[in-house]
Amino acid sequence: MIQVKNFTKKERRDIPRQEMTERHPKQRAKYFDEVTLGYSLKEAQFEAARCIQCKDPACVKGCPVGIDIPGFLSQIVHNDLEGAIGTVWDSTALPAVCGRVCPQEMQCEQVCVVRNEKKGKESVGIGNLEMFIADWARNNNVQNKIEIAPKTGKKVAVIGSGPAGITVAGDLAIKGHDVTIFEAFHKAGGVLLYGIPEFRLSKDIVQHEIDQLVELGVKIEYNSVVGRTFDIDELLEEYGYDAAFIGVGAGLPVFLGIPGEDLNGVFSANEYLTRANLMRAFEFPHYDTPIIPGKNVAILGAGNVAMDAARTALRLGAKSVKVIYRRTKDEAPARHIELHHAQQEGVEFEFLTSPLEFIGNSEGKLAGVSCERMELGEPDEGGRRRPIAIKDSQCFIDCDLAIISIGTEANPLLTNVTEGLELNEWGNIKADPKTGKTTKDKVWAGGDITLGQATVILAMGTGRDAATDIDKYLKENI
Ligand SMILES: Cc1cc2nc3c(=O)[nH]c(=O)nc-3n(C[C@H](O)[C@H](O)[C@H](O)COP(=O)(O)OP(=O)(O)OC[C@H]3O[C@@H](n4cnc5c(N)ncnc54)[C@H](O)[C@@H]3O)c2cc1C
Repeated sequence: MIQVKNFTKKERRDIPRQEMTERHPKQRAKYFDEVTLGYSLKEAQFEAARCIQCKDPACVKGCPVGIDIPGFLSQIVHNDLEGAIGTVWDSTALPAVCGRVCPQEMQCEQVCVVRNEKKGKESVGIGNLEMFIADWARNNNVQNKIEIAPKTGKKVAVIGSGPAGITVAGDLAIKGHDVTIFEAFHKAGGVLLYGIPEFRLSKDIVQHEIDQLVELGVKIEYNSVVGRTFDIDELLEEYGYDAAFIGVGAGLPVFLGIPGEDLNGVFSANEYLTRANLMRAFEFPHYDTPIIPGKNVAILGAGNVAMDAARTALRLGAKSVKVIYRRTKDEAPARHIELHHAQQEGVEFEFLTSPLEFIGNSEGKLAGVSCERMELGEPDEGGRRRPIAIKDSQCFIDCDLAIISIGTEANPLLTNVTEGLELNEWGNIKADPKTGKTTKDKVWAGGDITLGQATVILAMGTGRDAATDIDKYLKENI
């Protein structure tokens, strides 16, 4: 058997990037099964051997949580898989999630020295390898051997069970604190569960991470909408919590503000994806929640959420799915891989097109969207070229389902009823960027509710920083 660990530097440099096996686009577009099938051990070892183990690894600085990337890749090459997952766990609690959904091409892989060494070379597949090693650990029941500190007797309330809340809760439980998560839904995981679809991130993986938290002693109170069921002051003053962390995300959908948005058949991506993912509407009437399947579907927006909605609509049986976006593919905010997967599966794109009005039929149901064609002008403040309407260029796109995916913002439900919390101009909670401490005594915050719509890894990073500061505060106040 070929041993990659014995390869010379030159032989390592000559290994081409190992692509992960994926389900066939036409078949996978009918089912919710995960698209990527992962690496075999041999593929993983070949891919890991492409790392040249540079002395000053830029990839580690490019990783928001600073994983020792050359370290775990070398351990994979040398078949020390338990060591490799241990190295990854030292920096992140959710490698199976991050390996799948992190925008690595803009982080660790963007600065990979292999990629930047010579034109045309591809970066090491760091994300794919993170996914490989996390899946190997889960499939082989390898546990993260964590020593839990003796009980401190301090109680912490964590509001929201997305990546920020999960990270804070896990870190504080390990430090010996008594942690309870309060979650509005009947299941935990936040966007990982109700937003990102099964074909990108299997829900079994999310549940596995939640099970690990419970094993650490974290309690989860479901169906608890903090701000309605009870508020933060009650948690701190009446229920005896010593500190609270707010990680409620930014889940309020933004609408286009054009006529016809109230027609039957116009959805926000949030509602559509929540119905499909969390409420399992695709199994209606076996599950209670219905969904409009849609024959001809229009998606407004071209970010990751838009791609998730488009690909979900295909899987729910749509004949045609069109993404309408006012700029071109080059400016589309979705990850390249998501655009590629959507295109492979048959999603069509109407670039340089902007919606003007949703048009209904005589029964008040959506019949189509009237649009105008655009061209790109000078760059705006953000550097992206500004779309400008072309005169007399109106067009009509037939659709019986339209899904608005142009972003989300902070939900004011909790912040409106919490005295002492300062917000920024977009309604996000102001928090110290290093510690997550808010302007309210005993209250920290992190994730999308402080950052605005961000990413899983950034939400986890804010959670880790807040946990460190909460732990310090609790120890100083024992
Ligand atoms: C469809 C979709 C696809 C995405 N794809 C990617 C991707 O590929 N890669 C990536 O890095 N990022 C992606 N993101 C963004 C990423 O998921 C978020 O940045 C991240 O989940 C934010 O984490 P969080 O913990 O701040 O909040 P969330 O994940 O939003 O979790 C917040 C939790 O708080 C709960 N909650 C809200 N209000 C209350 C309340 N009052 N009381 C109690 N609980 C409450 C919610 O029910 C939820 O469970 C995507 C987002 C969406 C919507």
